[in-house]
Amino acid sequence: MKQTTLKQECTFSGIGLHSVHNATIAVLPAPEDHGIVFYKEDRIIPARVEEVVDTRRGTTLGGIIQVEHLLAAINGLKIDNLMIKVVGDEIPVLDGSALEFVKTFTSIGMAEQNKEKNFLELRQTVHFEEDGKSISAAPFDGFRVDFMVNFSIIGPESFEFKGTTEEFIKEIAPARTFGYQKELEALQRQGLAKGASLENALAIGEKGFLNQPRFPDEPVRHKVLDIIGDLALLGRPLKAKITAKKTGHTANIELVRRILCSI
Ligand SMILES: [Zn+2]
Repeated sequence: MKQTTLKQECTFSGIGLHSVHNATIAVLPAPEDHGIVFYKEDRIIPARVEEVVDTRRGTTLGGIIQVEHLLAAINGLKIDNLMIKVVGDEIPVLDGSALEFVKTFTSIGMAEQNKEKNFLELRQTVHFEEDGKSISAAPFDGFRVDFMVNFSIIGPESFEFKGTTEEFIKEIAPARTFGYQKELEALQRQGLAKGASLENALAIGEKGFLNQPRFPDEPVRHKVLDIIGDLALLGRPLKAKITAKKTGHTANIELVRRILCSI
């Protein structure tokens, strides 16, 4: 299978989730073996786990906040090489999902390059577990993600993603970030998540969803989206079966670190 890049450049802009300032990025085609690389002012920040500086509310790479939904779109569409120029500190939150990135990338189209993709294949199962949360990656000739979680208020949800681009576009990319109203109020009192609103997140109140979900199980689908985004930080396309229980960015990033140590 050959490496791919975008056929042309494109831009995205909008508010950031945390700073509210207007965030703008330009995504440009890149040559073979370039990988996914962010450019911020004079800094070059490869999309690799070594550059992760924070995983508490999204994945922060270098000084760039919330890269995971853009990276999910790139990884979900199996794009290998891109330059991403970032103005400001954040990736635009858009609607809180990967949908707008995916729509733009698929309308531009992908160009096949001459070199073969450099798949990362596991030799053994890699596992991480902490506080009742667990995530593992097992050797598998393909890519899939099984996620199970029991959310407070909305109850248990599970999703099996079988790894095709078509399924990613239709079933995963539109799933938005979600949050509990109480937690959001607490974050906003600390001056965080100031850009969060019903325009860019699925909100959960005391009795259930406060705005219309796109899927009855939208939160667990977004959990799968976040894993696909965080796995882009391996720097290579992964062949594995991922099984996750209740995990978030911190565990996803730890799994990426352990995978790289295991090969
Ligand atoms: Zn997310």
